[in-house]
Amino acid sequence: MSNQRIPYGRQSIDEADIDAVVRALRSDFLTQGPLVETFERDLLAAVGSRGEAVVVNSATSALHIAALALGLKPGKRLWTVPNTFVATANCARYCGAEVDFIDIEAGTYAIDADALEARLAVADQNGALPDVVAAVDFAGQPCAWEKLIALKRQYGFRLIDDASHALGARYQGWTIGANPDVDVTIFSFHPVKIVATGEGGAAFTHDSELAHAMRLYRSHGIVRDEGELAFEAPGPWYYEQQQLGYNYRMTELQAALGISQLTKLPSFLARRREIAERYDHLLAGVPVETPVRREETLSAWHLYTIHVDEARHRAVFDGLRAGGIGVQLHYVPVHLHPYYRALGFSPGQFPMAEAHARRAISLPMFPALTNEEQQHVVDLLSELLGRSEG
Ligand SMILES: *Cc1c(COP(=O)(O)O)cnc(C)c1O
Repeated sequence: MSNQRIPYGRQSIDEADIDAVVRALRSDFLTQGPLVETFERDLLAAVGSRGEAVVVNSATSALHIAALALGLKPGKRLWTVPNTFVATANCARYCGAEVDFIDIEAGTYAIDADALEARLAVADQNGALPDVVAAVDFAGQPCAWEKLIALKRQYGFRLIDDASHALGARYQGWTIGANPDVDVTIFSFHPVKIVATGEGGAAFTHDSELAHAMRLYRSHGIVRDEGELAFEAPGPWYYEQQQLGYNYRMTELQAALGISQLTKLPSFLARRREIAERYDHLLAGVPVETPVRREETLSAWHLYTIHVDEARHRAVFDGLRAGGIGVQLHYVPVHLHPYYRALGFSPGQFPMAEAHARRAISLPMFPALTNEEQQHVVDLLSELLGRSEG
């Protein structure tokens, strides 16, 4: 076992998933057809949303069409956190909008809502309020939504929840994706995420105008329904391009896989929670900081990210990798990438996210991780760090 690589995340595919994809292959449709619509309905049901779901070929595409539908363009601003995957910020850049960052808080490594509040007050004075704030439910744990929604009401920006990590997570009384006060919620179906479609993503909204706009952007900006045409149809062949859209459609094969995967969402989430609780228990006495739970939330546990002593971070990381454990850093702060440096960002601007990146290690976390593999991860980590007790 010790010479076999254990990744930090991976998909769980069973025979039912494989059969579902094969059935789709034998069907009349290979791309966006009835299965995509079923997947959209099943996703809404899974999170208990009364809104609409627009399924696309990646969460990155979902972020892009959300940014477009929310009106981001040159002269507009999106604020997000540095501790995220680059796509959360890039979606604004695709639209020519400006990006700025809000630092993260200790413990949850998600947006610091107090820092956001302080920055909003200053921006309000300067007439430089953001048009969109994109918060990230880091590791699958919902961030401080109550406060974020209150700030949205006060300052009038729109809210994106990049919930790529958080399918099935709960915050107070609602499941992520089901709150109409969040303008757009994004999910990813990349293989390391909660359910897999190969590549895939979704944008949820309760605003039917946003949903309509995102559907247009998903497929070239083209409309076919007679009621929506700008010009009178000269014949049955007619369709119109009304916007500059893209080809972000999901295939039927992916949707078939997604539908099948979604039936296992409760068991995937239960197993992830079990693994998280086992890590908490097994790591007691090992000198690491384990993830902090925010009150009244239920994480989807996409990641189990620990902090280790900064001086030993590199050695521990290398030691785990050498031992066949595919640990990862979530994340290299977005503002420190060469592309963002070239836009004027520099080290020291977001100290919490930068300190996090000097200490964070994401341990293996996926439903098929066995107890023995998990024990092996903990044993190697303890060996590398030494137990603090006795
Ligand atoms: C994975 C991820 C994305 C991008 O998802 P894709 O489906 O791979 O495009 C965006 N944001 C966050 C926070 C992610 O973790």
